[in-house]
Amino acid sequence: MSSNSHNNALLKSLMQNMAISGSRAGYTAKLEQLPVTADMIRAESKKDPLLSQVYKYTVSGLWPPITDKSSQISFFHNRRDQLSFVADCIMFNDRIVIPSSLKARVLKMIHRAHPGIVRMKQLARSLVYWPSIDKDIENMVRSCDQCASVAKNPIKNTLCSWPIPTAPWQRVHADYAGPLDGTYYLVVVDAFSKWPEVVPTTSITTTATINILRKMFAQFGDPETLVTDNGTQFTSSVFETFCKDRGITHSRSPPFHPQSNGQAERFVDTVKRSLGKLKGEENADTALYVFLQSYRSTPCTASPNGSTPAENFIGRKIRTFLDQLLPKDQIPNSHDIEMEKQFNKQHGARSRSYQVGEKVYVKDYRNINTATWIPGTIQKRIGQTLYRVTVNDTVWTRHANQLRRREAPIQFDVPLDTMDTIDVTPTATQLPSSSTPSTPSPVNTPAKPKTPPPKQTRKSTRITNQPPRFVMKPNQKSYH
Ligand SMILES: [Zn+2]
Repeated sequence: MSSNSHNNALLKSLMQNMAISGSRAGYTAKLEQLPVTADMIRAESKKDPLLSQVYKYTVSGLWPPITDKSSQISFFHNRRDQLSFVADCIMFNDRIVIPSSLKARVLKMIHRAHPGIVRMKQLARSLVYWPSIDKDIENMVRSCDQCASVAKNPIKNTLCSWPIPTAPWQRVHADYAGPLDGTYYLVVVDAFSKWPEVVPTTSITTTATINILRKMFAQFGDPETLVTDNGTQFTSSVFETFCKDRGITHSRSPPFHPQSNGQAERFVDTVKRSLGKLKGEENADTALYVFLQSYRSTPCTASPNGSTPAENFIGRKIRTFLDQLLPKDQIPNSHDIEMEKQFNKQHGARSRSYQVGEKVYVKDYRNINTATWIPGTIQKRIGQTLYRVTVNDTVWTRHANQLRRREAPIQFDVPLDTMDTIDVTPTATQLPSSSTPSTPSPVNTPAKPKTPPPKQTRKSTRITNQPPRFVMKPNQKSYH
């Protein structure tokens, strides 16, 4: 058992308070909680005066000098090299740019599980952008009643340092939290990835604990080391046998070092605070799983590379309701990336990168009625997938997907029935309609592979058009 019984009492009273004050707010929140999707962002961006300008300047590559450095447009001007389009949404690197009208709702989405300021910013940085987003996040968290009412306990000074694990599930820390409304929570944290497991239970006996761990270990395997405190369920001989049979080294916090299970205890505190924050809005079970999904899918500074616990534990991002914010082509998953590699290997596809001075065709968005590709020359590579391209006397910024090698055969007239999406090419002064500003796939596309065609990586799926060797149907079910 955790020794934090005073914390439990505090938490319980907080949760009771919130169950009352939160219910009314919870109702209103539900109506506004319909998730914002990429489609909505695209539509609202077109009505947004600022983003219309950004769109115009980005497609033309012609940014006027910005005199007012504090203006909103100046934020985008400073980042112009990292702006591009995916499925007609404006992207800042991998983040979708949010129009003013949707900022509040997007903030609400990201704040769903009440992550603190730091984690909320990290989450935002993997998804969305607008000028002053960091400040808006700070203001939102500071003005959130639930967040304020469950302030963080002062972190105990942890002198004990466990060896740094080199793989997931090598060492796990376990501790009980609760009871909260009669329910205990067995909290298990993987020391490597910080992937948490939290199992509600009404009984905390050795038998109950073993039953929970047996299930968990069936799923993830036996850890090499299990760290617990000296709770009676962990000190029994039956528990020792359970560990010994599985070759698990059971390490209990030595009496002279009560903080050595600090990892689990800190997390127990995080769990308790998070459940407390959600309690007014959700029932306890829902709150738990909202929290778990959010925690596992939020970039974590204590997890290797600052990636999400999910990435470090199961090797991929997990899809959450926040993924609706991004255009579908933007969301990669490791399986698809593997398939793509395989496909590229089999079909000899090269990744598209261009050399300085290379002659290319450039996507021309200036006039809707003319051919959409014109000759240009690569002037400079300015990012993983972005290039400066000289076209006549001007310089445009283009994504690799908006470029083609000039020796590649280009066919402009493509029958409509070969197209996956309706082609609408924006003019420089007017935002296009909701479909992608793509040219159709060229007709000289090779025969479609028997295996499902690859979804491309995050970088290469900024599709506005396809090189001849790829076949991709953005609307095809199997991609999603
Ligand atoms: Zn909050």
